[in-house]
This record gives sequence, C-alpha cells and structure tokens, in this order.
Amino acid sequence: MKLLSVIVPCYNEEENIRDFYEELFKNTSFFDEKGIEVELIYIDDGSTDRTVEEVKKLHEQDSRVHMVSFSRNFGKEAAIYAGLQKAKGDLAVLMDADLQDPPALLPDMYAYIEQGYDSVATRRVTRKGEPPVRSFFARMFYRIMNKISKTEIVDGARDYRLMTRQVVEAILAMSEYNRFTKGIFGWVGYKTKWLEYENIERRKGETKWSFWKLFVYSLEGITAFSTVPLTVAAVMGALFCVMAFVLIIVIIVRTLIFGDPTSGWPSLVCIILLVSGVQLFCLGIVGQYLSKTYMEVKRRPIYLVKEDL
Ligand code: UDP
Ligand code: MG
Repeated sequence: MKLLSVIVPCYNEEENIRDFYEELFKNTSFFDEKGIEVELIYIDDGSTDRTVEEVKKLHEQDSRVHMVSFSRNFGKEAAIYAGLQKAKGDLAVLMDADLQDPPALLPDMYAYIEQGYDSVATRRVTRKGEPPVRSFFARMFYRIMNKISKTEIVDGARDYRLMTRQVVEAILAMSEYNRFTKGIFGWVGYKTKWLEYENIERRKGETKWSFWKLFVYSLEGITAFSTVPLTVAAVMGALFCVMAFVLIIVIIVRTLIFGDPTSGWPSLVCIILLVSGVQLFCLGIVGQYLSKTYMEVKRRPIYLVKEDL
C-alpha cells in the first residue's frame, strides 16, 4: 500500500489545527479509493499557544495524526525540513495550517504525478487581500531575483507542493542552514507541473510574516541563490578606479596648461563622501555573504525536537 505524507508547519495555529484536520480528511476519499493511505504530520514550530494540545487531542483520536514539536521557533523553513525528514510516504505534500492551500486540489495534483510528473507545485495568480505595498515589493523581489539567479523562482509560488520520494530525498540532501525553500525547489529541478489558483485568505488567526520579516527573508533568498551582488561590488570598484584615473589625467593636464588655482573644496568633500559610501556599501555586501558563510560553517542543527509523537 502506498502512503501520502501531509506535512503542516504550525506556529501558533491553535484555531486552525482541527479545521485543517477536518477539511483535509473530507478531501481524501479519493486517495482511499486509489489505495493510498494518508498520514498527517503537524510540525509545531515552537508555538506559545495551545497548538500542541490541539494536535495531541487529534493524535489520541486518530492514529494517522503525528506531531513533531520544536524546542523553540526555528522558522517555517526548518519546519518543512523536519517534516520531510519525518515523512515516510512514497509521496509528500506541504501545506499551510491556515487552509490557504486548498486540500480540494489534491486529486488534481495526484493526477499529474500519475502522468509522470515528479512534483506538482502551485502558484497564486492573484494577491487579493494583500496590502498593495506588499504586493509591489513582492513583485519587485521576484523580478530582481530571476534576473540575478540561475535558479528559477516563480512569482506567487506557494510552498503547497506534492512530491515523489525522489524529490523529497533530493531536498533532504540539501542540508544547508540558510534554507530558502522556494529556491531549493527550483534548484533540485525534476519535472514539475504548475497549477494556478486564486489567492485564498487565511481561515483564522494572523499571518506570521510582518513586512520586515519578509524583507529580511528576501535578502536571505538573494544571498542563498545568487552571488551577483558580489560581482556588482567588484564591478563598481573597477568603475570607480577607471573614473579616478581619468580624473587624475584631466587634473594633471589642466594644471600644466592653466596653472593651479586652489579651488574645488566642496567638490572634494562630495567625492570623498560618495566614494566612502560606495566602499561601505560594497563592504556590506561582502559582509552579508561572510555572515551567511559563518552561520553555515558552524554546522548547527536546523532544528531541535522537544516532543515526537
Ligand atoms: N509558520 C511556521 N513558522 C513560522 C511562521 C509560520 O511554521 O515561524 C507556518 C504557519 O503556522 C503557517 C505557514 O507557516 O502554517 C504559513 O504562515 P502564514 O500563514 O503566517 O504566512 P502567509 O500565508 O501569510 O505567507
Ligand atoms: Mg497563510
């Protein structure tokens, strides 16, 4: 018998745990008919509310429900990794606890796996219910990211994705500490089918992503999947050298022809400010990569488990 593992990262989702469970198993009769068993793995990402208790209640009632609980909040990326490690299924699917990823789509997704696709991914084509400023920055991020990275990162892509065991193993093999899952999916490749749907607003509770958190996350994505900023720093340095060289010649020639009237103090200050600004900026870029490397070489575990049901 085949097994499908449903992986659900949860961070303070007490109101959604039961709703998700009910909604999911309302939509799995399709899999029963196909002879595919379903296991549901909640990954509690260090919730401070009653998430763990809610999952435990379900676990007692239903042996298909499992839980891994982290020692603290490690972030959704860590929860996804833990879920994939725990999943025993021949197939695995990642879903949000807030029902923004409709379980009703699962049969369609499975149909593509049967057709020979290795992974079926989803993207939302609208950003309905999202603040316009956030949509604007999100769009910009995807545009820049796809220009500077060889890995394809699809605009509006969700983490809602059905994968075969082979893809799961590929993702698990990428044991990096700085995990930008959207990039990792693209990086591992495999034959992927994209399904589109209109954005669905979260059922209950609040989003865990503030604008600032998303901004930092986007920078992480850039450093994790592109080294173009380093090249930009180098090119900018070279450009400024050339500029300085040309200016030196201009000034020497001018002095030889017209003598040397002492002037140009304001322009000198401007130049010093500009050049030192560019230097600090480039140093900052290098620093970003260095800090990521530093965190990576520490080889800290991606997450720590407190409870495993
Ligand atoms: N999540 C998590 N750890 C975190 C933040 C979020 O496991 O640190 C989970 C959250 O419980 C939800 C999913 O990741 O199941 C998506 O989070 P959310 O709905 O807040 O994000 P959005 O849909 O607004 O992008
Ligand atoms: Mg959500």
